[in-house]
Amino acid sequence: MLSFYDVDIEVIIILGIVYLFLVVSIAKIGTYKKCGGYKALLVAFFLTPVIGIIYASVSPQKSILKIVHYKCETCGLEYTTKHNYCPSCAKEGKSIRLVKKSMRTY
Ligand SMILES: [Zn+2]
Repeated sequence: MLSFYDVDIEVIIILGIVYLFLVVSIAKIGTYKKCGGYKALLVAFFLTPVIGIIYASVSPQKSILKIVHYKCETCGLEYTTKHNYCPSCAKEGKSIRLVKKSMRTY
């Protein structure tokens, strides 16, 4: 027999899972922000996810430095400027396309 008590427990467990899921999601957002994932997690957990998401949103974005390299797979040289073909290999008469590589540093 299902009593009201049993239903309540289930609802609490489901809400608890949803709550934790929201907290973890906000922590993930926080990792890309200046406040950091750990702080965002704590705020979301103790002050409800609603406050947490506001806290993470208001926090400025971490400064991300994006470095783009163009690498030649044949000779291994890397260029910071865009070339259609590798200038070094072009001297040897080969037309080697450069592979674009981007890196992110925080
Ligand atoms: Zn090359």
